[in-house]
Amino acid sequence: MKIEVVEGDITLLDVDAIINAANNSLLGGGGVDGAIHKAAGPELLTECRTLGGCPTGEAKITAGYRLPARYVIHTVGPIWHGGQQSEPELLARCYQNSLALTAEHQLRSVAFPAISCGVYGYPPAPAVRIAVSTVRRAAPVTLEQVLFCCFSQELAQLYRQALAES
Ligand code: ADP
Repeated sequence: MKIEVVEGDITLLDVDAIINAANNSLLGGGGVDGAIHKAAGPELLTECRTLGGCPTGEAKITAGYRLPARYVIHTVGPIWHGGQQSEPELLARCYQNSLALTAEHQLRSVAFPAISCGVYGYPPAPAVRIAVSTVRRAAPVTLEQVLFCCFSQELAQLYRQALAES
């Protein structure tokens, strides 16, 4: 399995699935969630309405509609409250449960944004370490390519460092 760091907009990536850092309602929001709904078109929201939301740490899959990606896997990261409220475990579960869905659907390539690192306030350095270690540990054999998609150079540098260290 190849792990790569890419800089830019996740909605443009031609992979089997992109991961959405969603909120519990799954009815859209700001940040990467807003960008994904905008690019996928209104059919995505229509499908999301049928899902009944999503608990923090879990993941649900939909079609990708107008995106290059065939699927969107919606996962809900923890809001950072200082680190004593199971934030690391919940963040790891986002990656694990998203990866499990890729296996269920026999997907070969997937792209992750930095879940919880935007509005949810998770400090990027520890979040990136969890992302890298959980993907390394829990990626199913069906997966050939994992992309970490970064909206900034600084974030991309953190991923490269974490990948080099682990
Ligand atoms: P959360 O609520 O989980 O913190 P955000 O969407 O606010 O989610 O931020 C998660 C990460 O996604 C942040 O690093 C943010 O800069 C990044 N991001 C926002 N828009 C995009 C996009 N179109 N493609 C890739 N990453 C994005």
